Amino acid sequence: MSEFFSEQLAGLAPYVPGEQPKKGERYVKLNTNESPFPPSPAAIKAGKEALSGLNLYSDPTAYELRKVIAAELNVPPETVTVSNGSDEALAFIMRGFCAHGAVLNDITYGFYRVLASLLCIKTEIVPLTDELTIDVGAYERTKGTVFIANPNAPTGIALPPESIARVARFDRKRPVVADEAYVDFGAESAVKLIKTDPNVVVVRTFSKSRSLAGARLGFTLSSPEVAADIERVRNSFNPYNVNAVTQRMGAAAMADREYFSLTRGEIMKNRQKLTMGLEKLGFYLTDSMANFVFASPPDGDGERMYAQMKRRGVLVRYFDEARIKRFVRITVGSDRDVDALLEAAADIYGGEKNA
Ligand SMILES: *Cc1c(COP(=O)(O)O)cnc(C)c1O
Repeated sequence: MSEFFSEQLAGLAPYVPGEQPKKGERYVKLNTNESPFPPSPAAIKAGKEALSGLNLYSDPTAYELRKVIAAELNVPPETVTVSNGSDEALAFIMRGFCAHGAVLNDITYGFYRVLASLLCIKTEIVPLTDELTIDVGAYERTKGTVFIANPNAPTGIALPPESIARVARFDRKRPVVADEAYVDFGAESAVKLIKTDPNVVVVRTFSKSRSLAGARLGFTLSSPEVAADIERVRNSFNPYNVNAVTQRMGAAAMADREYFSLTRGEIMKNRQKLTMGLEKLGFYLTDSMANFVFASPPDGDGERMYAQMKRRGVLVRYFDEARIKRFVRITVGSDRDVDALLEAAADIYGGEKNA
């Protein structure tokens, strides 16, 4: 740390993204929940067309993109705000709506805690149950703005919108943020609540189900009043936060229903195959509704599995946290990726089970 760095941030522990292989390293990469499929051909075409206009600033209101998102999700455009990845939307919300702190699960997306620490927001922690599910009733005793990843990460377990509504109705004066990064893989969205429960804010991303992680695009769905407040924060931080290429790619990807349906269908099918294959080898898996599975190998040693997989050219994610040491998180990749993962798993654990 330099002598110039703010002392207030001396204890900051930044988010550690899953490792990205260096050029020339060939791994089956199942550690960061990216899509194994390229962006929609329509999105690639739209992105190329946008390149020659990059001498101009992007539309600071992202009007066309917001219009397409709104039309696809059947909500008015004034309920939509866009961000440079949903991580940025989470930052806007933390900055704008957490005067009374943030309520987080002990096991969830690690970035919430990092953001809270960067923005000096105090946190209340609601532990998951022994089954790693969310204890909905526990929120009645909390005060701050609630952040729930739904489906949760890294467990993959989903809550029905009725449970989000229940949390929202414990205290209508504090926001409840449903981070739906993985909702397109079989869970039910809370978006219908933004009409009935104006303290519900839904956060979405193009990184997982729309194959655009590298383009950095997220969005929020909320009451028009809350959306206007998020816009206040956004316009005070970076009014051109979503670049022109990404705006065009996002709109085209959103409108390409056929590609969306094809690719998410493929992921859900491969999740089933991966789940069954691992169960056959004696793994325990949570009931994941995401584009990853959360799996515990027969010997209950997640770190060993991570290391053994890496030796066999497969990257999975291990979390060095007390309650989930027995698990690894495995992204659901292409059919070939699933085969490679299962083959490596059989090599490591097949003999042990039969021994
Ligand atoms: C991946 C992920 C995000 C971040 O997505 P970006 O849009 O790429 O910033 C947010 N929340 C959860 C729970 C995620 O898993």
